[in-house]
Amino acid sequence: MENNDRIIKFLAHDGKVNVVVANTTFLVEEARKTHDLSPTVTAALGRLLTITAIMGTELKSMSDNLTVQLKGDGPIGTMLAVTNMFPKVKACVQNPRVEIPLKENGKIDVSGAVGKNGYLNIIKDIGLKNPYIGTVPIVSGEIAEDFTNYFATSEQKPTVVALGVLVDKDGVVSAGGYVVTLMPDATESEIVKIEEAIKQADPISKMLDDKLSLYDIAKKVSGDSDIKTIEEAIIPVYECDCSREKMERGLISIGKKELANILEEDGKAEIECRFCNKKYKFNSNDLKEILNSLE
Ligand SMILES: [Zn+2]
Repeated sequence: MENNDRIIKFLAHDGKVNVVVANTTFLVEEARKTHDLSPTVTAALGRLLTITAIMGTELKSMSDNLTVQLKGDGPIGTMLAVTNMFPKVKACVQNPRVEIPLKENGKIDVSGAVGKNGYLNIIKDIGLKNPYIGTVPIVSGEIAEDFTNYFATSEQKPTVVALGVLVDKDGVVSAGGYVVTLMPDATESEIVKIEEAIKQADPISKMLDDKLSLYDIAKKVSGDSDIKTIEEAIIPVYECDCSREKMERGLISIGKKELANILEEDGKAEIECRFCNKKYKFNSNDLKEILNSLE
């Protein structure tokens, strides 16, 4: 599969409307392969990864990161996605193999798998003493509507969020999304124009599958043929930043007593990263060294 993943930011309607369009096909396929996701979970986690990547591009510093947690009462369980500013994104999910019947219209039932009750938590760690935490209840479980609601209530930003993943038996066919944000000076007639344009447009996964460029998609969903590109070199990737040092810190955090127990009973420890499945092995000498460093 060719990697055409990209996030491009545009201004429409004389700078009164922000449009961000993302192609995350390759990224979502990487996540599917990493976690051996079922088609249903590919669609759900793919939507979450896409909006997380888009939000990641708003971070300002290299050490910032953003964690998105969707805790619904559906069979998927909790989904977690983390990004930095580049955006390098990683995710994990409680039940990666969940399959539920398609909806009557033949589409994957994402809200049925996520659940219609629960919470969406957004945690922004931007180097302040305490991270910013925004929590809103799930409104539909379709994910795009849940983020539209989050932006409206927690960030006071009127937006339209669209997210979509097309899956077939071989994997991800297309994945992506867009976020249209109205600035305070957007007029009523412009708002109507955008609403009409979005209604007319095909679903995002279909537009990407039809090989529309992100520029053409931005024109379509903004109802403005005279849009301006403001940032176009953003390439989202699925990449885990785990390391032996981080896993060691994880071991230390379970406490000296517990660690001594593990050394005595098992003589070794193996930790698997829940984002990329990489295994880190600590033998008895490693464990002794860690214990000694805690003296
Ligand atoms: Zn990892």
